[in-house]
Amino acid sequence: MACINKTTGRIIYMDNAATTPLYDEALEAMMPYLKGGFANPAAIYDIGQEAAGAVAAARSDIASTLGARPNEIYFTSGGTEADNWAIKGVALGEYLSHGSHRRAAGTDRPHIITSAFEHHAVLNTCKWLEKNECRVSYVNPSADGIVPVSEIESHICKDTVLISVMLANNETGTIQSVREIGTLAHEHGILFHTDAVAAYGHIPVNVKESNIDLMSASAHKFNGPKGTGFLYVSEEIKLPPFMHGGAQEQGRRAGTVNVPGIVGMAAAAVSHHNDMEADIARLNELGSYFFERLSGLNASVLKGSEGLSDMKVSGEKEPGKDAVRINGCIDKRLPGSFNIMIPGVNAEELTVRLGMEGICVSAGAACATYQGDSSHVLKAMGLTKKEADSSIRISLSSANTMQEIDILFEFLRGIL
Ligand SMILES: *Cc1c(COP(=O)(O)O)cnc(C)c1O
Repeated sequence: MACINKTTGRIIYMDNAATTPLYDEALEAMMPYLKGGFANPAAIYDIGQEAAGAVAAARSDIASTLGARPNEIYFTSGGTEADNWAIKGVALGEYLSHGSHRRAAGTDRPHIITSAFEHHAVLNTCKWLEKNECRVSYVNPSADGIVPVSEIESHICKDTVLISVMLANNETGTIQSVREIGTLAHEHGILFHTDAVAAYGHIPVNVKESNIDLMSASAHKFNGPKGTGFLYVSEEIKLPPFMHGGAQEQGRRAGTVNVPGIVGMAAAAVSHHNDMEADIARLNELGSYFFERLSGLNASVLKGSEGLSDMKVSGEKEPGKDAVRINGCIDKRLPGSFNIMIPGVNAEELTVRLGMEGICVSAGAACATYQGDSSHVLKAMGLTKKEADSSIRISLSSANTMQEIDILFEFLRGIL
């Protein structure tokens, strides 16, 4: 049986960066295609064409949320596939189509620049490419959780074909300077991919304004169904297919399309797009309250101190030794997303104990749980293994309440 919180009588869900619950409007949009409207959208009879129409509408709805054209949206099985396709597609496409030219011209292997704190969908794709004729530079973020554009620039060379830097980090919530990175890439004739899985649906994004050529997103991170996502591919570039087979998705991504998933994803995307301003305002309100409670916690743990003045971000020098810290900068982050370091506490144990109170948070990213490793994200930001292992991620949604934040902090005060 699931643990519920005794005070609220419900689960207190604060792990929206791991996944989100399905919105009612997404489920309702999906239902017809799980039942009577089951036909293959490639079929030319009525119900097939009806399904095709629903997929086309979903494609243009999603395109309009990010300033793209419908023919630039390719449906995938999620964020991981979109990341794999974008990066392998550019690297191998470059290698396959220009490999012989490159060798004849005596140039080196295709080179990719990414950050050291990307999601494993990007990092492990890059690791694989390194074993297959590519060269990869991994740029470290600063202690504030932002990848310095100047560092990226310093790695650009004549063989660089792709820069891939995420829009927002899924563990710290810190938002990267994608517009500057996109501009830099284009100045050098390099393609720019951004893994927007953690950010899309939560903060505004416009692919044209930010010079983004490829962008990955995943429905289950914005209250759509799991196993569905998309890759935006600028129509200016020729990305080779990833899945070979039928002619679906303009011949670039074969396989019968996931009609209910796509329709549900579009409903969730539109809902987030329409409510974005209100959701951000609500999350900022909850975020300020969270910050207040965190300062109060520090004040009570560090007897006689001023609280707020002891609240340091990890980017600053000499933080109060026992103070709870926010990892990464305060201002450039996804609304309501926090990663906090609690000195002397084992984050995994703490998450289990919070879980028994019906409070869901996480120690690092969900995927790291399978490996038992310390967070590569926090270590890339310069935290020690011990500090990384004392850090928990709290990712709120606009459905959370101040009472729930109170309950979390009362529990934390208790264990400290
Ligand atoms: C969740 C996540 C992914 C993977 O997406 P899936 O749809 O779960 O495969 C990739 N990148 C980031 C930043 C994520 O948060």
